[in-house]
Amino acid sequence: MRILVLSDIHANLEALEACMEFAKGKYDRAVCLGDLVGYGPDPNAVVERARAATNVLIRGNHDKACAGLMEGSDFNLLARLATVWTRQQLTAENISFLRSLPEGPLLQEGFQLVHGSPEDEDEYIFGPGEAHPLLHRATLQITLFGHTHRQGGFAMHHNGRFQTIHIPPSEDGLVRTLALENGTRYFINPGSTGQPRDGDWRAAFAILDQQQNQVEYYRTGYNLAFTQTKMMQAGLPEPLVRRLELGR
Ligand code: ZN
Repeated sequence: MRILVLSDIHANLEALEACMEFAKGKYDRAVCLGDLVGYGPDPNAVVERARAATNVLIRGNHDKACAGLMEGSDFNLLARLATVWTRQQLTAENISFLRSLPEGPLLQEGFQLVHGSPEDEDEYIFGPGEAHPLLHRATLQITLFGHTHRQGGFAMHHNGRFQTIHIPPSEDGLVRTLALENGTRYFINPGSTGQPRDGDWRAAFAILDQQQNQVEYYRTGYNLAFTQTKMMQAGLPEPLVRRLELGR
């Protein structure tokens, strides 16, 4: 089975469409690790598209905040403004869909889905400091996580060696293939589809290939200017518009 892994789409329809187009014919099932909405200009269209295009979804912190399941009082001002705007836009049906999304970890055949970390859906795994103890305690070989908007991940080898999975700069398309070893445990971050923060503005996704025992990381450009224009027209905060082109 080849699993398309999307995460942190954040109401960016152009980025989602670009990923779906690029991944077309390359996967059997699709999963999403949360944060369908928040920040971007197309919350309804993205919820509907992602709902139709994926087999399994879990919720992210922005899904909870935009659906009114939590206050979002720990969000910064810009995120709070985008949350308020998104709440006003969402249809009743899409709000109830977001409210119905399960909390991670969600166990699938051979891997689990989490938004933040296996122990707390809102926890960020930024670096070795967070990843090392969590990987040490992990019992499953493969955990797919998002939330940080940084493509890559971490591994703990059977001999105890810890590894940060880096993504090299490269052209659009397949940017890295990671061979999965038996006995090694992995935290895999596909990167953010709709608001990357790893210094590369392009939409990110990954494909987990269970036959070949590997993860393929991808990047693809999309019509960024169009997304930014829609954000300006919607009156979303300008720093949120700018950060898209910076990938920060
Ligand atoms: Zn997010």
